Amino acid sequence: MLLRHTNDTIIEREALTINPAKTCQPVGAMYAALGIHGCLPHSHGSQGCCSYHRSALTRHYKEPVMAATSSFTEGTSVFGGQANLLQAVETIFTVYNPDIIAVHTTCLSETIGDDVNQILQKARDDNYVPEGKFLIHCNTPSYVGSHVTGYANMVTAMVKYFSGKSVTKKNQVNIIAGWCEPSDMREIKNITSIMGIKTILFPDTSDVLDAPLTGHHEFYPKGGVTVPDLVSTGDSRYTIGLGPFCSEDAAVLLENKCKVPFDILNLPIGLEATDKFVMALSKAARVHVPDEITEQRGRLVDMIADMHQYFYGKRVAIFGDPDTVIPLTEFLLSLDMKPVYIVSGTPGNKFGTAMSALLSEKVPEAKFKNGERADMFLLHQWIKQEPVDLIIGNSYGKYIARDENIPLIRVGFPILDRVGHSHFPITGYVGGMNLVVKMLNAILDKEDRECREEKVELTM
Ligand code: SF4
Repeated sequence: MLLRHTNDTIIEREALTINPAKTCQPVGAMYAALGIHGCLPHSHGSQGCCSYHRSALTRHYKEPVMAATSSFTEGTSVFGGQANLLQAVETIFTVYNPDIIAVHTTCLSETIGDDVNQILQKARDDNYVPEGKFLIHCNTPSYVGSHVTGYANMVTAMVKYFSGKSVTKKNQVNIIAGWCEPSDMREIKNITSIMGIKTILFPDTSDVLDAPLTGHHEFYPKGGVTVPDLVSTGDSRYTIGLGPFCSEDAAVLLENKCKVPFDILNLPIGLEATDKFVMALSKAARVHVPDEITEQRGRLVDMIADMHQYFYGKRVAIFGDPDTVIPLTEFLLSLDMKPVYIVSGTPGNKFGTAMSALLSEKVPEAKFKNGERADMFLLHQWIKQEPVDLIIGNSYGKYIARDENIPLIRVGFPILDRVGHSHFPITGYVGGMNLVVKMLNAILDKEDRECREEKVELTM
C-alpha cells in the first residue's frame, strides 16, 4: 500500500495541503509562451525553479523544452534581479536569436519585489532588444493560484502586448485556447478548418510540442501563433474563449482594448460542450455547420448509444484543472455515469458555481471542492469512504488507483508515465470518441481480469 497512511476519517484542515492537485504558476506561463512562434520563455528567478518547470513540461510532452533563467544567486536575492535580467536579454538575443522572450516571475523575484515591467522597459531603452524582436512578461507568484493561473496570466500578456486595432475589421474569429494538449489545439483547428472559418488560435502549441522527428534540430519549431496574427486579434470579428479559468481575463482585456466582443465557453470536451463550440463558431462567423461536422457528431452519438449499458450508473472520481474537469463532468453526465467526487487544486469561485449547476439535480450526493485544500489526500479519503468504478486524472492518481484497485484513465496535466496524450485529442467529437474508448477499455479490462471464469465473455 503506497498510501497506507490515508484513512477515511476526514478532519477539516485550514493550513495543510497533502499531495496538491496542482503545480506552480510559472509552469503554466512557460507552456503558454511556447504557443507563440519563435518564443523563448524566460524564468526570472533561480535556476532550480526553471529546471523544475522545464522538466515538468519535458516529462509530460516527451519533447525537450527550452527556457532561459535569470539564475539568481544569494546576492541577487538581496539586491534584486535587474542586472541579471538585462544581461540575460542581451545574451539570449545574441546567442539564441528568438523572436520573442516571454518573461515570467517566480516566488523569489516576486518576494523581493522586482519590477519586471520597469526592467524590460530599461532593456528596450538601452537597446538590448534588436529591431523586430519583442519582450513580454507576466507576473506568476506561485504562492497564489496554480499552473492554470500562470497560463491565464501569460495569455493575457499576449493581448496586453500585441493586440492592436486598425481601421479595418477582418473576417476572422479569435479562439483563446484554455490549457489543453497540442493534439486538442490541432483538433480545434481541424473543426474550424472544416467549417471554413479563418481563426487565430492563441496560444497554439501544436507543431511545437508534438513536432515530428525530421533528423534536424529545430530550436524554434514551425508551430505557434505568430506576432502579426496576435496583433491582428484586435481586428477580429469575435472572440471565443475556451475554458473560463484560462481564457476569460484575456478575452475581457481584448474587448476593453480593441472592442472585440467575446463569448466564454467550456473547452469542447464531450458532446454538449462541442455542440456549443460548433454553434458559437457558426454564429460568430455566420456559416452553416457542414455535413462533415454533423457526421463526426453522429459517429460519437452512435458510439455512446451502443456502449451506454457499460457506462450507466458507474461512479467516477475526477481530479485536475477546472477547465478540463468541468466539461468532463458534463460529458460523464450525458453518458449517465455518476461523477461523485471532483477536486481541483486551482482556486476560483467559478468552479463551485459550475459544479453546482451540473450536479445538484442529477447527482445530489456528489462531493466537489477546489482550491488549496482540495488535494489528492481528500479525494482518496472520499474514495475510501465509498469507492468508485473509475478515476480520471493525471499520473498522480496511479497511487490511489493501485491501492484501491480502481482503473485510472490519464487525462490532464501532468502525465508522466504514459504517451499518447499529446497526439490523440479529447476535444471535439473525435476527442469524445477517444475518451469513450479509453473509459470503456479501462472498465472492461478490469471486468475481464476479475470476473468469475464462467462470466468471461469473448464478445461485448
Ligand atoms: S513554487 Fe515558487 S519556488 Fe517553487 S518552483 Fe515554483 S516558482 Fe519556484
